[in-house]
Amino acid sequence: MTKPHSQFTIARYEFALSIVRQLRDAGFQSLWAGGCVRDQILGKEPKDYDVATDATPAQVIQLFGERRTVAIGASFGVVMIPGTHRRQGQVEVATFRSDGEYLDGRHPQSVRFCSAREDAQRRDFTINGMFFDPISETVIDYVGGTEDLNRKIVRAIGDPSARFSEDKLRMLRAVRFAATFQFHLDEATELAIDTLHHQITQVSVERILQELKRMLAHPTRHDALAMLHSTGLLQQILPELFHDNSPVSIDIHFLQTALRNLESVHFEPAMAILLSNLHAPDKTDSTARLGAVRETCRRLKMANEEIEAICWILESQRLLDHLVSKPLHVRKPLLAHRYALQLLSVSSALAAARGLPADDAAFAWHYLSTHAPESLAPEPLINGCDVMALGIPEGPAIRNLLATVRNAQLDEQIQDRDSAIKLLQSLASR
Ligand code: ATP
Ligand code: MG
Repeated sequence: MTKPHSQFTIARYEFALSIVRQLRDAGFQSLWAGGCVRDQILGKEPKDYDVATDATPAQVIQLFGERRTVAIGASFGVVMIPGTHRRQGQVEVATFRSDGEYLDGRHPQSVRFCSAREDAQRRDFTINGMFFDPISETVIDYVGGTEDLNRKIVRAIGDPSARFSEDKLRMLRAVRFAATFQFHLDEATELAIDTLHHQITQVSVERILQELKRMLAHPTRHDALAMLHSTGLLQQILPELFHDNSPVSIDIHFLQTALRNLESVHFEPAMAILLSNLHAPDKTDSTARLGAVRETCRRLKMANEEIEAICWILESQRLLDHLVSKPLHVRKPLLAHRYALQLLSVSSALAAARGLPADDAAFAWHYLSTHAPESLAPEPLINGCDVMALGIPEGPAIRNLLATVRNAQLDEQIQDRDSAIKLLQSLASR
């Protein structure tokens, strides 16, 4: 069991501990539960601490006071307690509960308050089903989570088919936990996903995207992809990757190799790699291909900014080709772009997967490391007012003139405002 060391994480730890103490002092059972127990045993800093108790939501609210609590899911027995300082984070206090019937493939219709032992049974995987008493510092394990953690296994609690049928999202969670922790899926758990994978489409696209993003924003993304593919989940969540709906139409080895070689930990470059070979009716038509990428991203309800990043990264790959012989007015804006580093990561990763040297990306890295940001994107020497001062009417002509002068500046043909104005005058008099 690892305790936190940094100031920031100690504050969250202490806060979560104080909540357990207060509940205990008031005569209730209270324990840390779920992911935070697992993370602590693994020696990772928990993202957040969850407390489980036999106090009802009303009793929790009464104990901590209405002003200090937020009843975020009181019907499910969850009350949130924000810290008084930001660094304390917030703690979710959940009443031990057992879930009623699942109707929509995602949420229980009702819940019933129960014992800790029963509460463990409703949790998804054994590694997520443990409790921890932070006062006596003991693990309370009703589901065999400790052993599975040691053996590095993601195993559904109870009958895997039944658990995945109740809540289909668990199938994606299983893959995410297995990939990010570098665990194996338990055989029966994996078999159940193989069988039920097509039901994942019953989960909202927002939740699917959320899981996909977490998998792709992790260095183990190539393993997540392999598991998504082998279980059949990939074809359900990203059917666009499968030409004619055929499971053999995707070059999974290529995508996996590219992802393994991807250095950026962001989600967008990983997604760009997945979509890099998206099938479009006319493969040579780059606009149509980019359109297909955009459509896929929209279907997954990505944020506009994410879509723009992914499209820019893919669209700009060809500008990187033979970068060394491209004019400076092409090279500089490309490398000054806010997604330039992600572009280079993707380019290197794709080159590695193709078995080619990443010459263009290497040149770009070198260029970036030897040129200051302000030399890549210098202040413009002139602006629209300078053009209008020459009596040129508003319109596209102004934009063209400005662009020509800007290119000359980036190409280092002109260095100062005087020469920019001179160039402008000679261009305008033509
Ligand atoms: P992380 O926060 O790192 O993704 P976590 O295990 O803390 O991992 P949360 O989504 O924060 O995951 O959920 C907290 C706990 O609630 C889990 O550890 C698990 O015990 C339970 N849980 C979460 N989602 C489900 C689910 N879909 N089905 C059953 N139990 C769940
Ligand atoms: Mg969590």
